[in-house]
Amino acid sequence: MVRQIVRGRLVVTRWAAVDRAIEDGAVYIEDGIVQETGPFTTLSQRHPGSETVGDGTQLVMPGFVNAHSHGRGVTTLRQGIPDDPGEVRSVGLRLGLSVDPYWDVLLTSARQLEGGITATMHLDTNYGYGPVASYEDRLHRVCRGYTDSGIRFSVTLAFRDPTIDDPYLDERFLAGVPSDVRPEIEKWRRPIPSLEEYLGLPGELADDGALLQLEPVGVEACSGEFLSRIRREADARGFRIQLHLLETPYQKAHALKRFGKSSVERLAELKFLGPDVSCAHCVWFTERDIEALRRTGAVVVHNPSSNLRLRNGLAPVGPIAAAGIPVALGIDNLSINDNEDMLQEVRLAQLLQSPPGIGQATITPETALFWATEGGGQVLGIPGLGRLEKGSPADLVLTRLAPIETSVLRHGQDLAASVVQWVRQTDIQEVMVGGRVLVRAGRYVGGNRDEIERNAYESTHQWTLTPGVSLVRRKIVERYSAEHVTVEPYYRFHSRS
Ligand SMILES: [Zn+2]
Repeated sequence: MVRQIVRGRLVVTRWAAVDRAIEDGAVYIEDGIVQETGPFTTLSQRHPGSETVGDGTQLVMPGFVNAHSHGRGVTTLRQGIPDDPGEVRSVGLRLGLSVDPYWDVLLTSARQLEGGITATMHLDTNYGYGPVASYEDRLHRVCRGYTDSGIRFSVTLAFRDPTIDDPYLDERFLAGVPSDVRPEIEKWRRPIPSLEEYLGLPGELADDGALLQLEPVGVEACSGEFLSRIRREADARGFRIQLHLLETPYQKAHALKRFGKSSVERLAELKFLGPDVSCAHCVWFTERDIEALRRTGAVVVHNPSSNLRLRNGLAPVGPIAAAGIPVALGIDNLSINDNEDMLQEVRLAQLLQSPPGIGQATITPETALFWATEGGGQVLGIPGLGRLEKGSPADLVLTRLAPIETSVLRHGQDLAASVVQWVRQTDIQEVMVGGRVLVRAGRYVGGNRDEIERNAYESTHQWTLTPGVSLVRRKIVERYSAEHVTVEPYYRFHSRS
């Protein structure tokens, strides 16, 4: 049995109960599972001979859970795909997939671990389509990348409804394309597997060690039959579900036009939503949507950096949380510095969701830290994830205490507020997943970091504005501009009076 004691000048066991921070504390671990927390002197006497991690000067806290990402170590902007709303980006995403996702996944995992993220949700959107066998190959490589990295992970398999028209590859669209550009665009047309083929994938991936979830892609346009079949399959086989929901105003407008009701109300009526469903983005919600989602018990995954970068707006996460809906945080491989910095994401979430005005309800720092830890634990469905209590996975972060030591220990300032405001990614020193130390002195040590980075860049497409890409992007922009979609944002930028 492997026995370890992680010691810290300050040990935080849960962000929901910040008063439980233990001075000169420790976490006792057996075979990667937390057994006990308490004063270091007590635990070291009780468990002599344990390996000690940490020098007793640091802050020890639960590892972060990134509740929504896509396994892009080489980020889309690095691949040359501009930050645009998904409707425009889809052209680049389809062409910009890594040739071999293995190295890309290793790179994002190394970066996330260096940012204190110990568990991650990978949603494999599979923009490339093609025969199901190629998707299966890709997923095996994805799972292997995560397994080899050491990070705790879950993989969501994305299923496309083959009845949904591809907006820029159908015959009507292609008919208007000049003949010299058409062959390039036609090459992007690849078959979409049937739902039956998709549903065979979990069986094929059973030995890959991944916790699997399911996603219906483009839920705003999926048929009721397609959604119901996925829901039944998830129930029968115990899969959780993650989906993108109302990320852009166009998704909202199209669902209203097509089904005469909001996507949230439609999904609730179809009994698709439940506590095992997490919904990423949720930017274009109304009060009615918030109430409809609340009744289902579903979780909202907030992605503040991504929503800002892709110009999708500010999600009403303050009102969502106030309604009692569970919230988690995701980076979506689009953090504002492109570096998977969860501490920054927490800071951003807390500040953006605190509206102006004296007496307004604000998001507290411990709430934002809770979203980034236990909130994500609910999305992955791993008991005890995001906290350090008996039975929890030993997933934790050790940082320098110096940025907050005087404020917290001498002046008694609020610990969560101090961590959010003053601790930086560069203060992270060691990161442990299941008892295994994967980051030392702030650097990933689970593999050859330089080799991973080099191979990830070498196995990734660099996206260029070919004639076909330029034309399709222009047509998409024209098409959406002509729609004059005007939906009132929940949050406004400034006063107009
Ligand atoms: Zn996403």
